[in-house]
Amino acid sequence: MDRKTQGRTDMTEHGTTPVAARSLVAGRWVDDGSWAERQGPFTGTVVSRALVGDAAMVEEALAYASGGARVVRSLTPARRADVLERASALADERREDLARLLALELGKPMKDSRGEIVRVADTFAICALEARQMGGEVLGAEGWERGRGTTALTYRAPVGVVVAITPFNAPANLLAHKLGASFAAGNTTIVKPPPQAPAASTAVVELLLDAGMPAEAVQVLHGGADVGSALVSSPVVGAVSFTGSAGAGAAVARAAGPKRLVLELGGNAATIVCEDADLDLAAANCARTGFSNSGQSCISVQRIYAHRSVFADFVERLVDAVGTLRVGDPLDEATDVGSMVDVAAAERVVSWVEEARRGGAQVPVGGVRHGATVEPTVVAGPEPDARVVVEEVFGALVAVLPYDDFDAVLTTCNESRYGLQAGLFTNDLRRVFRAWRELEVGGLVVNGSSNYRLDHVAFGGVKDSGIGRESPRWMIEDYTTVRTLLLRDVSLWSDT
Ligand code: NAD
Repeated sequence: MDRKTQGRTDMTEHGTTPVAARSLVAGRWVDDGSWAERQGPFTGTVVSRALVGDAAMVEEALAYASGGARVVRSLTPARRADVLERASALADERREDLARLLALELGKPMKDSRGEIVRVADTFAICALEARQMGGEVLGAEGWERGRGTTALTYRAPVGVVVAITPFNAPANLLAHKLGASFAAGNTTIVKPPPQAPAASTAVVELLLDAGMPAEAVQVLHGGADVGSALVSSPVVGAVSFTGSAGAGAAVARAAGPKRLVLELGGNAATIVCEDADLDLAAANCARTGFSNSGQSCISVQRIYAHRSVFADFVERLVDAVGTLRVGDPLDEATDVGSMVDVAAAERVVSWVEEARRGGAQVPVGGVRHGATVEPTVVAGPEPDARVVVEEVFGALVAVLPYDDFDAVLTTCNESRYGLQAGLFTNDLRRVFRAWRELEVGGLVVNGSSNYRLDHVAFGGVKDSGIGRESPRWMIEDYTTVRTLLLRDVSLWSDT
């Protein structure tokens, strides 16, 4: 690894000089090639440039990864865990620096950006713990007559080469999950970061290298769908870990063909507010978690179903709570809602609001944009088939709809093509269990909105929201295969 050249330059002057994010191929930060500029959505100025991968770099990276896999798998789990623990400490040390990159490249407010980096530190620590616990099983081979005199052992063997493709909305923590778990499992990883956050993504990789991750364990190729697609289709690759939209996930699955695939895709998460709910708690929670990162989270509160008897009251409290959110410069410490990822995304949200309004919905707050910033928007009573209900909004918009019957609203929630996570405000334990049984989702949050995630807890979707569970313990299962050892004429129970 050429230590003199780092992945990025100009780390001290983010505000004035674009940060250069290089690709990392075969242990070398690459300078020569074509550069793609990233315009900060709030400032409208170029904040970073990424050295984009081409076909030759993809080929070189894949060839290097095959050798790299052998190096990484020979490291003891203790050694991998040490690296990950140091990376966790470095993420804490570099929190401000990393958070500023997220704010600049994405318009994510410093509050949310810092929160993401706190989670990066947690995620690396969790990966370290999982690495230390890697082991196997002694199977009950002699429980069946044909197994008499045989001992069967298993362990989880690394798949070798993992490709990790990340989306723009949480580029640091999702990269930490994928790369951290892949390394914990003993693999080498090729990272394809989102084009909107090349500098923040490169900074996370640098952090791991500074923590002692060997050069053989990671490579980075910036670029778009073409680079990602070329990587996942290679037979060298043992597992693909993809987070992004449902459409791109389907394209990745087609390109990857029959190999291990983890897909973490979109959602239009529902949260139910029952008549017995604490309305102030529900309103404050939905306002905060519906608009954090301008609603650009796969589990952001999008559809709120409030019981008709409390609907008007809830909408009023929600609108009041939304009114307390400060909209503004992502670098301003007081800002709660910054900009969306780009002007086109903001325009899409505003046009969907207009469509819902034309269909008869009320818009008591928001519905306008300034550049890439969408004012936090509440759409009350849209048609059930409005796009703000049916599609993934992925923006600063929350739709509230009334319901009459609890069982019927569970069915309504399930009428989505997505099924990632749901929220439920109630103190009725029977309803909690009914919802847990009936809702077609990967997870249910009670007395919280859909938008709550712990990095050590199983997380993922069903239906078009994906396949797999993204949390280090479960990811390590995806990034390894069970390898069995059968010992003949050796018995745990007697001399044969
Ligand atoms: P996106 O699908 O546009 O891009 C995601 C990544 O995939 C990017 O790195 C992109 O360059 C790459 N990509 C796109 N097409 C590809 C292809 N055909 N082959 C290979 N790579 C390809 O998504 P986005 O706009 O960056 O992110 C937002 C989406 O991600 C939303 O739908 C959101 O719900 C989803 N998301 C899901 C989760 C989850 O855990 N389920 C978490 C975060 C975001």
